[in-house]
Amino acid sequence: MSMAPPVERPSVAIIGGGIAGLTAALGLQDSCRTVLFEARGQLGGHILPHPVTDPRGRPAAVDTAFVVFVPETYPRFTALLQHLGVAHAAAVTKFRITDELRELSFPAGELLQQCGRTLPKECRRELLRLYQLLVRVRREGLGFIDDLPMAAWVEQQGLRPETIELGVLPWVASFWGLQPETVLTVSAKVALREIARNAGPYPMHRVVPSTQGYLDALVAALRHCEHRHQRVEAVRLRGGPTVHGPRGAERFDRVIVAVDAIDARTMLVDAEPRVGEVLGRFGYEPTVAVLHRDPSYLPADRSQWCTFHHRRRRDADRVRSVTTWVLDLLHEWHADPTEIATPTLLATGDPGLVDEARIDPEQVIAVFRHRHLVSTPRVVASLPELPALDEGQAFTLAGSYLALGGLHEDALASGARAADKVRTELGLGPASWPWSAEG
Ligand SMILES: Cc1cc2nc3c(=O)[nH]c(=O)nc-3n(C[C@H](O)[C@H](O)[C@H](O)COP(=O)(O)OP(=O)(O)OC[C@H]3O[C@@H](n4cnc5c(N)ncnc54)[C@H](O)[C@@H]3O)c2cc1C
Repeated sequence: MSMAPPVERPSVAIIGGGIAGLTAALGLQDSCRTVLFEARGQLGGHILPHPVTDPRGRPAAVDTAFVVFVPETYPRFTALLQHLGVAHAAAVTKFRITDELRELSFPAGELLQQCGRTLPKECRRELLRLYQLLVRVRREGLGFIDDLPMAAWVEQQGLRPETIELGVLPWVASFWGLQPETVLTVSAKVALREIARNAGPYPMHRVVPSTQGYLDALVAALRHCEHRHQRVEAVRLRGGPTVHGPRGAERFDRVIVAVDAIDARTMLVDAEPRVGEVLGRFGYEPTVAVLHRDPSYLPADRSQWCTFHHRRRRDADRVRSVTTWVLDLLHEWHADPTEIATPTLLATGDPGLVDEARIDPEQVIAVFRHRHLVSTPRVVASLPELPALDEGQAFTLAGSYLALGGLHEDALASGARAADKVRTELGLGPASWPWSAEG
């Protein structure tokens, strides 16, 4: 009796264990030998929560770089949570804007009411026009928005400084942890898309009790994928894709590079020059997320504390904007802010918060250094070139930067696209995703 030789499964290396890489692994592990390389000791990338003790002394985890999402605009992620059996719930996301330069502090929901009181009454008309524009973006997409940097776009719209500084910049700066002057360089298309997507009519949700449950369920679902906690030094394409790390080189049939554009560019050492040139257009701003207990960036009156705060103030010789999440309120450890004895706060902003000790170093629990994509019009203009970069190549790009918003749903979509592309190239059937094909 002759035995058929075992069918050798194609091998795929995935570099980067953030949500983009994990999603790609999910879409390939059934049909390929899938090896996931992650430089850090744990998988998750930005979704990795941080362990803390809650006010009742119980172990808890807080979300530090994937905090909230809107189910209606995160269709893939919402379907994935359902598939994994992970709960999510509407989050308490009251937002307060404090502008020390204008000596103003008010709940963001009262912006219109401030017009004619603390703000010029003309701002009301401008804000209503902006709200209508966001409704149009949600309905029609971005085709009618000129691809200008925000600074030129707000000028084109004839907006007053108050409308810009209180009605536009705090929202975008808070989503991305960027400084307002950086937001002014971002493409108006991307900024308006993110406001429409995240500050829309639908409530923000959070994974409950924290993203730890999501990450655990996702990693458990990847039981057919091999994980290696190893920093990849280079991916060489000539002669077949080879992954180079501290333990030597290994050849695969395909490689998915699921790291940010800077790391992808460095890693792909012998890719065509066009790849490096396009990836080099993606600019990033260094940011930090600081988990701490120092309330100095929050109103002195604790009854005014809400889930997140945007504060613009002059620190030493420069103006700095900081977004502070009161995690006690977000995680519903307390409903009444005046009852918070020792707050657990997450401040996102520029690295000077830590490097210049703007937040009391004694009160710092953990510091996460990030770099955040700055989606300028030049980056947006590169979008049509992206699919052609890895088409017909042995490598595939993934990562939230590929969809310009740089948010969780973008990363997930990029990982799914990478798995689908590899499956098509290897002649495998379509992946079975928990979401519909339209996503
Ligand atoms: C402070 C902050 C708050 C945020 N809040 C939200 C939010 O509320 N909602 C939302 O939707 N999005 C949010 N985001 C964005 C979101 O978290 C990210 O867009 C998304 O998780 C990025 O996923 P990724 O897989 O593309 O990248 P990453 O999560 O960065 O994963 C890349 C992985 O690659 C690994 N890696 C890099 N180089 C190598 C190498 N050489 N070898 C091996 N591994 C390597 C890294 O260690 C990392 O784990 C936030 C981001 C930040 C910074």
